[in-house]
Amino acid sequence: MRLVLCCWLAALGWQMLHAQPVSYDGYQVWRITVEKPSQIAALEQLVRDIWLIQGRTVDVCASPEEQEALRKAGYTGKVLIPDVGALIRQQQTEFVPQDGGLFTRYLTLDEIYTAMQQLAVQHPPLVQLLLIGRSVENRPIYALRLTKDPRRARVYPSRPQVVINAMQHAREWITPPVALYFAYRLVAEYYTNARIRNYLDRLEIYVVPVVNPDGYVYTHTTNRLWRKNRRYLGVVNGRHAYGVDLNRNWGLNWGGPGSSGNPLSETYQGPAPFSEPETYFLSRWMLSLPALRAHVDLHSYSQLILLPWGYTTQQPPFYAVFERVGLAMQQRIAAVHGMHYAVGSAAVMLYLASGNMMDWVFGVRGAPSFTYELRDRGQYGFLLPPDQILPTCEEVYPALLELLEWTLQRDWRE
Ligand SMILES: [Zn+2]
Repeated sequence: MRLVLCCWLAALGWQMLHAQPVSYDGYQVWRITVEKPSQIAALEQLVRDIWLIQGRTVDVCASPEEQEALRKAGYTGKVLIPDVGALIRQQQTEFVPQDGGLFTRYLTLDEIYTAMQQLAVQHPPLVQLLLIGRSVENRPIYALRLTKDPRRARVYPSRPQVVINAMQHAREWITPPVALYFAYRLVAEYYTNARIRNYLDRLEIYVVPVVNPDGYVYTHTTNRLWRKNRRYLGVVNGRHAYGVDLNRNWGLNWGGPGSSGNPLSETYQGPAPFSEPETYFLSRWMLSLPALRAHVDLHSYSQLILLPWGYTTQQPPFYAVFERVGLAMQQRIAAVHGMHYAVGSAAVMLYLASGNMMDWVFGVRGAPSFTYELRDRGQYGFLLPPDQILPTCEEVYPALLELLEWTLQRDWRE
């Protein structure tokens, strides 16, 4: 008996040490339109990886076996990506252009952190690098603090604070560059643009490009389509279970509809609110900001500007204000490259999602909070080609400026 147990443990250890890169050969992304939203639960039984649910439209990433099961069950879909494995490989080769540009290819975690350090080292009067906390695998989580003379005070109580963060979900690779671009361009324009100078003199702007560093590294080394963090959860149904969905792990209405108690689920909420160091440290830090006045959480994909709530379809307080600001952001985005981002509450536009960050920031901190779903609308989904990085950064920048302007101009309840 003991020998069997030893062999079993040895086999587990071997598996853990020698994880092969996950192959997506033969996988396809299908867009399926169901007749009734109630059919979505049945669909979730057939396909493990749901990429997007928007109304009656569901994007699924299906293995050959799952495609067969879908066909047998009578589902037909429009094929969005005919060969996921081939597309991932194609982007791995496009991944190496050595032109030195920060926004022409997807950077590794080390490259993002180096870029953040450089910005802080090159612009001490405007930028400070802060360590917010550490991940499950002990990687640092950094914020850029952008404000005039950041080293003269730990925080300026008279300067309203704005937080922009990205990459709670590891496969959403477009989100860190959008956050990083925002920081870089603010600094670059400070000395030439009076409007930008005003923002950095009178606001404290915090940018956290990577909330989930372990997940992001794992998408580079092993599984391009990983979503959650890298918490090891033990053996479940004979499989090693990993990962908590960080955007279901926040403390407001944790464990409610639209999150899962199953460790194998892509929307696993974790064993308790803030059980994960990533959400724990970020929430503690946000509670320490004395005048947090606005927040954006960056995700992809589907081109949406989402407003609270995620946990219920009921309208939040001040919904009209949220909508007005959301529509102003929408206009700013469309003015750059003509892209349309729809505006509405998260639970209505997408699906119920309890324990998400936006709900916590608005419900607990009382700061207006938005979730952006960036490009595209499904042609490439999470596998957005590198030539769309810069255009996406460019169109989101003025929408975030709109939020700064509005934060500065008035009390948001007016
Ligand atoms: Zn996401």
